[in-house]
Amino acid sequence: MSISSLAFDTLLAARDAIRDRKISSVELTQQALARIEALEPRILAFNSLYADRALAQAKAVDEGERTGSLAGVPIAIKDNLCTRYGTTTCSSKMLANFRAPYDATVVKMLEAAGAVIVGKTNLDEFAMGSSTENSAFKTTRNPWDTSRVPGGSSGGSAAALAAGMCCASLGSDTGGSIRQPAALCGLVGLKPTYGRVSRYGLVAFASSLDQIGPFGWTVADAALLLNVISGHDPKDSTSVPTAVPDYLASLDQPVKGLRIGIAKEFELTAGMDPQVKAAVDTAIALYKSMGATIVDVSLPHTEYGIAAYYVIAPCEASSNLARYDGVHFGHRTKEPVENIIELFSKSRAEGFGEEVQRRIMIGTYALSSGYYDAYYVRALQAKTLIKRDFDQAFEKCDAILCPTTPTPAFKAGEKTGDPLQMYLCDVFTVTCNIAGIAGLSMPCGFTNGDQPLPIGMQLLGPTFSEEKLLRIARMYESATDWNTRRPKLEPV
Ligand code: GLN
Repeated sequence: MSISSLAFDTLLAARDAIRDRKISSVELTQQALARIEALEPRILAFNSLYADRALAQAKAVDEGERTGSLAGVPIAIKDNLCTRYGTTTCSSKMLANFRAPYDATVVKMLEAAGAVIVGKTNLDEFAMGSSTENSAFKTTRNPWDTSRVPGGSSGGSAAALAAGMCCASLGSDTGGSIRQPAALCGLVGLKPTYGRVSRYGLVAFASSLDQIGPFGWTVADAALLLNVISGHDPKDSTSVPTAVPDYLASLDQPVKGLRIGIAKEFELTAGMDPQVKAAVDTAIALYKSMGATIVDVSLPHTEYGIAAYYVIAPCEASSNLARYDGVHFGHRTKEPVENIIELFSKSRAEGFGEEVQRRIMIGTYALSSGYYDAYYVRALQAKTLIKRDFDQAFEKCDAILCPTTPTPAFKAGEKTGDPLQMYLCDVFTVTCNIAGIAGLSMPCGFTNGDQPLPIGMQLLGPTFSEEKLLRIARMYESATDWNTRRPKLEPV
């Protein structure tokens, strides 16, 4: 790979090139910033850029003042991760000018590992959506075809990486927001087990489902980032104090006696793109040819996944978002008001976009007395059943393989008129969050045509199975070359 395209290479390659002094961190950061300058008008991935600060961080690496496993590599982070530097907007008018008083734990960890943070990426407002079209600021474009969406809600993080504007990025995943954009942008995206990564400083959407995770071009890049961001944090009581293995060290060891589970409940008949199905079937056959046993498993409560998710997530969101009242936090109306209630309601009506308001209303309704048992409690019962399905399935297999999304990237504007269509993008991803297990998406093919679009497959594993899950993913990756493709964005 030529030096001039290093910002478009893998995180590991870039990291090693800096370590071996083939390129300086300042040069690499300049390359990333040059690509951002050239491509941002087409891709719209960033809410804010940290050019000067990034160059200063890079310089400190070059001068030996900063070291670590990510020393000198440009990384982008989703704009719902708090940073003391700059704004943390969640792509909402509500927080357009919000300056967090502290850094998220993952941001501290990245910086302690020597990373150069180039900027913060666009998302669906408060991470609610599947296309970044719910951002109050802009719709990010898919680098493989800029008439299409990159997925969401971490669409900015996925598009920034896919466009070579950084070497890796972080997103958050509440119901698929890392895996779905990874699939649509041809990347590896990992949603860690609930509790693996500290959520301290991640602006809360649905606290029982949210997890932060990495995007990379390869499984190894995702493993390296996971190494850096995992671990117990006294500031997040839901982060788990189990030891963090070295995910990178074991990566090339194939899993002996591998059993891949296929769940018939994930075989949609309606709404499934035949090219996605064909690519996933080919991947299953490849695992088989590598010696894996393919076993049928059953996840009978999958059919309640979307319904349960779209009750639990809005319920938690309505509670989490109650804090944005224009007094403690967030946008305050400039209209005259008669009393405090009017101040709250006008500020919130002005500050929150349509989808966020919809979710707050659904959540408030579902939690209200008289409906609580009918909706919220039932959704929690479905959660228990979904979790039990996975526990039973994982007695028979090491990982479950299915598509990440029913279709490749869709056109901007195609689903904005119909929230339900947008919600159905998540049919394969939400149960992973509901059960709290680990899930990874990786490229498994491209569509036919002059503008091929990436297709993603998902591997789901039991809680804290990341080490094995990454090895299983690596087995497939080492037998294929999807991860070497890049969108044609030149000349930049
Ligand atoms: N698309 C899902 C939603 O709109 C998931 C979002 C996420 O994972 N943050 O809620």
